Amino acid sequence: MVVVKLDGKDVEVEEGTTVYELLQKEGKTFWRPFEVPQLEFIRNEDCPLINIVEVDGRIANPKILKGLKVKEGMVINTNSKLIEDKLTERLNWLKEKEECYLVRLLQEFVACEAENGGLISMEERQKWEIDPWISLPSILHDPKLCVRCQNCIETCKTVQSVEALAFDEEKGVVLVDEARCARCGQCIHACPMGKEIGAVKVFKKWFECELCPYSRPLGAIREIDNVKEVWEALKDPEKFVVVEFAPALRASLGEEFGMEPGTLVTGKIYAALRRAGFDRVWDTNFAADLTIMEEGTELIYRLVKAGIISKDELPFEVDEEVLEEVNSTLPQFTSCSPGWIKFCETFYPELIPHLSSAKSPQQMFGAVAKTYAAEKLGIDPRKMVVVSIMPCTAKKFERNRDEMCDAFKYWLEKGVVSEDEKFPDIDYVLTTRECAKLLKMAGINLAEMPDEGPDPLLGQYTGAATIFGRTGGVMEAALRTAYEIITGKPLEKLEFEELGTLEGVKTATIKLNGKEIKVAVAHGLSNARKICESVKNGGEFADYTFIEFMACPGGCIGGGGQPIPTNKETIKARVDALNTDDRQLPIRKSHENPEIKQIYEDFLKKPVSKLAHHLLHTHYFDRSKELKSA
Ligand code: SF4
Ligand code: SF4
Repeated sequence: MVVVKLDGKDVEVEEGTTVYELLQKEGKTFWRPFEVPQLEFIRNEDCPLINIVEVDGRIANPKILKGLKVKEGMVINTNSKLIEDKLTERLNWLKEKEECYLVRLLQEFVACEAENGGLISMEERQKWEIDPWISLPSILHDPKLCVRCQNCIETCKTVQSVEALAFDEEKGVVLVDEARCARCGQCIHACPMGKEIGAVKVFKKWFECELCPYSRPLGAIREIDNVKEVWEALKDPEKFVVVEFAPALRASLGEEFGMEPGTLVTGKIYAALRRAGFDRVWDTNFAADLTIMEEGTELIYRLVKAGIISKDELPFEVDEEVLEEVNSTLPQFTSCSPGWIKFCETFYPELIPHLSSAKSPQQMFGAVAKTYAAEKLGIDPRKMVVVSIMPCTAKKFERNRDEMCDAFKYWLEKGVVSEDEKFPDIDYVLTTRECAKLLKMAGINLAEMPDEGPDPLLGQYTGAATIFGRTGGVMEAALRTAYEIITGKPLEKLEFEELGTLEGVKTATIKLNGKEIKVAVAHGLSNARKICESVKNGGEFADYTFIEFMACPGGCIGGGGQPIPTNKETIKARVDALNTDDRQLPIRKSHENPEIKQIYEDFLKKPVSKLAHHLLHTHYFDRSKELKSA
């Protein structure tokens, strides 16, 4: 037997007993000098952040205590000044930042490296009285985490050619020009403070922290977090909370749960979101098919109006009213990337007539969820909360646009709601990273989920929809449908390999009824800028017919809200996964999706109909006047 001092009292204990066993035997619990709300979501019983005791003047956590044997004269305290000081520091950090303090300390190795280059230390940074800035409603910059490496500034300038960020040499801070910023979030991927260093990976594995919602290191530049609002909505019995998730998520969310990049997890996502409490689990891919119906039809009308295709060649009757109203400007530009739309409105307002009026899949989804689906399910649209999970930070900006409330206008016209009850089509947007956090808060491990399917109505999708998530996918999907509608013949070869590569700008020529039309694809805003300059100045791309633009390198799969790291390797693996999904699906063309046929039959009647126009199409604004230099 040995005698140890436990919380000031002598205790006789059998030799060979571990400190952990002793604490259990004596009924001791880990002390909490004060509670913070985030503790509710820490389920790791061995959490080394909050479960600490003092052994011979040093802090020890459960892993250490389970291996540490009692010794004669050992002094063990479960409640002491040292523990209180440590917990105060750690819990305050957790409460304020929603990040594990231990992960932060390890992550600071990156900062130390940067310090060697003459940058500023964590200690000094904490003393700085500099307010964080936000690029509403998407991006946040926290100067206390920033090591001033300027990688974000460089990415914004070279990859995106936006130059929204600058360094104030005098104050030593990163500044943002909100008018320029496209909210693409590529700067987030450049920030070393959010890239999990090796030591953090080892730590997380050792302490089994991977499923903790606070174990991912935060970047000094990151998305504005909306997880709390979604969590509250899920708990509210008055709300009917539905969810859609983007094409790219199925090839990337697994990475947040330790799976290899490019692991397809579609069925597991349906299962996980259902268990998280969503009343309906639907899929943005359904809306991607809807987008193709609308955008593809708009393109056909533009081609007729521009005299490239005659009405008589078409196997369907052209609606003269629609033809009258449609814009004939070519090339038609795709409109589903909100970072690209913001960029075009800001830097190339003269090209706005080229933009397809079709809303993005996210926004089409919200508009039909709160009208068509609400009606079918007998749900009051005011009680429906639509949560959209996206690989993109600009989607938060898109949902916030004043004009994106067409479901409200629909019900207002019907006299169901009043002017003062205005609600948006989409209530909350979470990034892929925030979605992982939400699932971890709910105690859900995606890797252990079974494969399930979506709920009926807005969940079925085709291969054309799934490739929306990668560069070239929207173009390819549109061509699959437009070709068959225009020619009335089935397309023999569905894949356009030349458009699916990771080259920055890609071109192809397609034969439609004997006529050659030129199409192009650009991803990353610096590539978009090259094409915009060419179209604006009557260059090579001015006589193209259709051009796809995506703000992020690789398309949505490389979006600013995707798992970190997002780099060439992860992008390639995710693209391959989406292509596999496309090839495996029984239906690969948007116009063959049974639920798409149903929504037109029961509700919208036909593409670009009056109702479709009200709910699924939009307009754009010249934002160039907001530029400081304007
Ligand atoms: S969000 Fe995009 S445009 Fe805005 S600062 Fe970051 S990289 Fe630049
Ligand atoms: S926000 Fe991140 S990338 Fe930008 S300067 Fe600070 S540490 Fe570097």
